[in-house]
This record gives sequence, C-alpha cells and structure tokens, in this order.
Amino acid sequence: MASIKPSAHLADVRYEIRGALTRRSRDLEAAGLPIIKLNIGNPGRYGFETPAHLREAIARHLHDSEAYGHEQGLEQAREAIAAQQRARGARGVEVERIFVGNGVSELIDLSLRALLQPGDEVLLPSPDYPLWSAATILNGGKPRYYRCLAENQHLPDPDEIEALITPRTRALVLINPNNPTGAVYPRQLLERIVAVAARHRLLLLSDEIYDEILYDDTPFQPLAEIAGDLPCISFGGLSKVHRACGYRVGWLSLSGAPERSAEYRDALQLLAALRLCANVTAQWAVAPALESMPTINALTQPGGRLHQARSEVLKGVAASAYLDLAAPAGALYAFPHVRADRLEHFDDNVFALRLLEEESVLVVPGSSFNVPHSRHMRLTLLPPPEQLREVFTRIERVLERMSAE
Ligand code: PLP
Repeated sequence: MASIKPSAHLADVRYEIRGALTRRSRDLEAAGLPIIKLNIGNPGRYGFETPAHLREAIARHLHDSEAYGHEQGLEQAREAIAAQQRARGARGVEVERIFVGNGVSELIDLSLRALLQPGDEVLLPSPDYPLWSAATILNGGKPRYYRCLAENQHLPDPDEIEALITPRTRALVLINPNNPTGAVYPRQLLERIVAVAARHRLLLLSDEIYDEILYDDTPFQPLAEIAGDLPCISFGGLSKVHRACGYRVGWLSLSGAPERSAEYRDALQLLAALRLCANVTAQWAVAPALESMPTINALTQPGGRLHQARSEVLKGVAASAYLDLAAPAGALYAFPHVRADRLEHFDDNVFALRLLEEESVLVVPGSSFNVPHSRHMRLTLLPPPEQLREVFTRIERVLERMSAE
C-alpha cells in the first residue's frame, strides 16, 4: 500500500537542532554510550533551576488555571510585559498589543502567519535560529538572507540588508542577542537598520529572548526604543533568562504608532483566538519574573557558571590548532569555525557526525542555521565548565584525524 504523503509545504523545512544527529545520539545512548550533549539551549537539563518564586507563583495559582483564559494571555502577565516594554522606551504599548504564547516559538509562527501573502519575502539573518526560516516557508513566504560573518563579529551590514529589498519584502527579522553566534548588536548599528526598515516600510521583528544574558558588561539595546513610531514586534519569554523552557511561555509586544498596525493587531488576535489561549498555568509566573531582578546576572558575571563556561570555550579555541571564534557577547552559545588555512577541505556535517560517533560529543553543524558551506559548529555554554574542557580535547582529536587523512 502507498504510504501517506506529507504536505509538499514541508519540502524545504528543516530543524536540525533536533534532527538526524540527535536521533543518532539517542540510539547511541540507548546502546549504553554516555553522550556529552551540546546541542540544545535547555538550561533545566544541565542543573540550572527556575527561580523558586516563579515555581511558587504557579503552585499558588494552580486552582485558578483550570478554565480557558483570554486569547492574548492573562491580564496580570500582559500588564507586567507592557510595563517592561514601556520602561525600555517602547512606544504605544498597551495590554491589547501584548500576546502571550506557548513559547516564543508559537508567536514566531503567529506573527508571520498574520503577515504574509504567498511569495512575500522576509529578511532573515544567516546564520539564523532555524525556526524563523521554517515559519517563513510554512506561511508561504521566502527567506532572503543577510550575512552575519565571523570576520565582522557576526554583525550584519545594513547596506547589504538594503540591497536585498525587493517590492515583495515585508519584514526584517533581527535576533539580538543572537542564537547561534552570541553577537549583541550595538545601538548605532540598530539605528541604521531601523532607518532601512523605515525607508522601505518593513515590519520589524526583533527576537530578544536572550535579552538579559550578557557577558563582559555588554549593553543590550531594545529595538523598540529606536523604532519609535514604526511598527515593531519584540519577542521575549521565560525559557532562557528565567531558565523555564518547559513552562512554554513567551510573549510578543507590538510597539509603534497604533494606527500603523491596527489591522495587523486584529489579525494576530484572530489567530490567537483560533487556538483559544496559551497554557494558563505557567502564565502566573510572568509577572513575578518581570517584577524581580533577573537572577541570570549572577551566572554571567565573573565567577558565575555561564561566565566560567564561556571562558573554557575561549581557552579551548585559543589552544586549538584549527579553531577560531568571535567571542560571544550574549546568549547561551558559541559558534566557532574551522580555519581554512589549517584544514582546507572541511564539511561541517561530516565533522559533527564523526565527533558524535568517534568521541561521543553532540554539536550542531553550522549549516543547520542556514549558512551555506559552513565551517562552523554551535556549542551550548550550559554543561559544567570542566566538561567543556574535555569537549575541546575531543574536538581537537577529530580535527587532527581529519587533517591527517
Ligand atoms: N528564538 C530563539 C532565538 C531561540 O533560540 C529559541 C529557542 O531556543 C526560541 C526563539 C524559542 O523559544 P521558546 O519557544 O522556548 O520561547
């Protein structure tokens, strides 16, 4: 019998962070091999705990969580998000322009579904967080990639962005602080990018889920403040800064002059209503999370575990005969690459498979982030620092073997 064919819309959709390599790793683990997993930015899997006051808020409100809630999210949560955004200088933000979702993931899809006509183009960073490409394609759009090259500290070039714009371009996506590169965009650069969006009437979509995870006192500049009256969506959530990936809570805030995005806001509300509401239980954690200082700071300052992990990665790269890295300034990842002058013929997918099979270390190849012919790999900064030291010994062994062949 013929098997059931999946939708043709999925033909170009990929999510390799949980793809074939991860499945291979699960098989190896099931066969008894301990694998060091550096593939997913999931703090709870590495001993990082959600702050207790978030957990307690949910426990206190369990009995208030049994009915469907408002399609845009609990009023109390949306008020806290609106207050955070206004304090950051965002204009025109009211509770009716905030949407809470089952993670930022759901809202990335929703924001593009409410926007795109078939064939519309979306400007995306390369490398990107691959859900952005997938959601663009699944909603009938076409990704157009602007490059964020290692030799430019993974920062985008506003002139290159502008040169990619066509009459079909509708939106410009920024991921800041960036996954996978760890780049944090300076204010001046964001001002030039906002000017491009203003000239071409593009909707700005700023994925700021790592907004408080910063190293070396790097400042974070929210895009909404610079965007002013321009329609701009800022995304944030509990998964990373508050180490609560499993709660599945994210939000979007639509800023700018309300009359410039009124119909779009209504479209978002319709789509939100079609799925009824986000998980109510975990939304009780939003206001307590935003009303207290982010405890992640203790982890990213000198002596903190993420700071130590990042230092181990920088040391590992410095000691390597093959690797180079633009040091991450924020987020939970490093994106080193194999230097062409040290190892000319290099395939990141072959390398990652060998690292897994020969050395039991799981990383994500750079090409999984929509970079053609990537020489990169993405590692999370979440494992204990001493384990990262061991990882670099194993990476070096594989690269030695590859260069000797
Ligand atoms: N955006 C970026 C840049 C991410 O790295 C992630 C998860 O890794 C998400 C969005 C999705 O986060 P969540 O759905 O857990 O809120």
